[in-house]
Amino acid sequence: MINLLNQSKEALINLLWNSDTKIKSLLLNSKKLADARNNLFDYLNNLERHYFNIFSDKKFNKIHIVERNNAKECIRVLKNVIRTENEKLTNYSALNKLYKIANKKQNALDSVSEGFLLEFISLFNGINGKSGITESTFILEGSDSEISRKRTIKLDKYAKYIHKKMSKFKSGLDIEIDKKRLNSKQRILKYFNANENDWNDYQWHLKKIVKDSKTLSDLVFLSNTEKEALEISTKCKIPFQITPYYLSLFDYTGKNNFDKAVRAMVIPSKKYCVNVYKNKLQNTDMDFMGEKSTSPIEGITRRYPHIVILKPFNSCPQICVYCQRNWEIKNIDNTIFSKNIMVNAIKWIKENKNISEVLVTGGDPLTLNNKNIGFVINELAKISHIERIRIGTRVLVTLPMRINDEFIEILKNNNVPGKRELCIITHFEHFSEINKEVIEVVSKIRKAGISIYNQQVFTYYNSFRYETSYLRKMLKLIGIDPYYTFNTKGKDETIDFRVPIARIEQERKEEARFLPGIVRTDEPVFNLPKLGKSHLRAWQDHEPIMVIGTGERVYRFFPWESKVTLVEDYLYKDLPIYNYLKRIQADGENPDDYKSIWYYF
Ligand code: SF4
Repeated sequence: MINLLNQSKEALINLLWNSDTKIKSLLLNSKKLADARNNLFDYLNNLERHYFNIFSDKKFNKIHIVERNNAKECIRVLKNVIRTENEKLTNYSALNKLYKIANKKQNALDSVSEGFLLEFISLFNGINGKSGITESTFILEGSDSEISRKRTIKLDKYAKYIHKKMSKFKSGLDIEIDKKRLNSKQRILKYFNANENDWNDYQWHLKKIVKDSKTLSDLVFLSNTEKEALEISTKCKIPFQITPYYLSLFDYTGKNNFDKAVRAMVIPSKKYCVNVYKNKLQNTDMDFMGEKSTSPIEGITRRYPHIVILKPFNSCPQICVYCQRNWEIKNIDNTIFSKNIMVNAIKWIKENKNISEVLVTGGDPLTLNNKNIGFVINELAKISHIERIRIGTRVLVTLPMRINDEFIEILKNNNVPGKRELCIITHFEHFSEINKEVIEVVSKIRKAGISIYNQQVFTYYNSFRYETSYLRKMLKLIGIDPYYTFNTKGKDETIDFRVPIARIEQERKEEARFLPGIVRTDEPVFNLPKLGKSHLRAWQDHEPIMVIGTGERVYRFFPWESKVTLVEDYLYKDLPIYNYLKRIQADGENPDDYKSIWYYF
């Protein structure tokens, strides 16, 4: 894999045609593009028929069923890519490119990337049963005891491998890290001339939110790249906010493997700032999820029959750079809680008896004091048809001291088993965010009979092998159930965070699958603008339909309700797998560990 990633285009072309010599000659011997298409369809149909016909030539049946199964998927994808319908939809013809490259047309090779060529090398190998996705064969033969012995040896091998991968990770419970963070906390308190009581008071943290680069660089070491990005964010008036508590999770001496995810979460990158600024200049609507067109009344978003989102506050103790609502999340000083808007929104919910579940989010609704958030929760709880109130908050991660006794009482009073569930939906991104303080508040909430679920966004910064699995494992151990893993949105400004869909699918199958079922309860989803969540595990919900010259796959999504209503499809251009692999390679990962990624669709 390393070799392939570092190959020139000319070398990749040779590999491409060697992966399937028949396709090359078929493209060379077709007079027109239309002939090439027909010939390729015939070739693929024939191949597919042989793979699934047990009376076929022995050479097909000799290929292991796992490879044959993969070949079936690759054939399906390749057929999708050469369909005229999909060319029209995407305004691109990969077949035309391949045809021109085979016939050595001028500039043909220049118009495609290495990522494009690697996609087709993988597909051509795949359709021929040569993906090499599995390295060893495992045959269960012999007596029951022999089979059991072989099986347990195999399972031990998996377990050792997983343990080896996870053993390099350290959560905030690690003694050394805990010590370092304690020092950081003392440094922050000294800087603000504050004491332990202040630290335990969430209002103090809200007053001392770090929003300027001077304070930030006084408190932690920043690299030149980070400083440069912060300068741009100041110039372009792009807000950033970090609570003193969250800042204490940084490694004071500078970005390292342990705190990279924590820093990335809150320090806007240069690319992010430039893109947001560009959007502002061009007046581009950053409402990628189309929330404005799913809001029947101010303060409410609705995408499902029974559930609505209620937004009492448009700011958070700290701002996550990749937030899907970055267009409406305001600096905390410029945000107010409007009781009027809430009264009207709650009245709307009361009058709509179809709504049984409300997700109170924002912003982070726990930025509000107990009086205001208590008002919202208590009013919702008075509505007889509301069966569940979910509080979507990140304070467990950004400001755990916010979960005070008075708030626990509000939760407790409104959670009535058999009538109404009240639960917390939180958002841990990385195991480095888990520490003693977190365990303490999680225990308090759980003791009050309230369940906590986690929604994780699968970003570049938690996407390395087993990172997310380790997060799940830790979450479950402290009393939080993994709930969703979200694909990053296709927003231009958050390109730094994006990960190809294939990587999420790979993580699910090759990492999450090895965890006990009770730990991998989260569902990987793609949130379609205006249309709601599509399950990434379901073939029926999406399919790749094109590979563009840049190496980007185009997916066609069918929304969740497509089996009950004739809804519109949604097209999505993904991050090239090649770009992702090059980046992880530059960051010290071995791309060879990810080689099966090309075969996730
Ligand atoms: S806490 Fe939630 S709403 Fe607030 S910035 Fe982060 S992702 Fe967005």
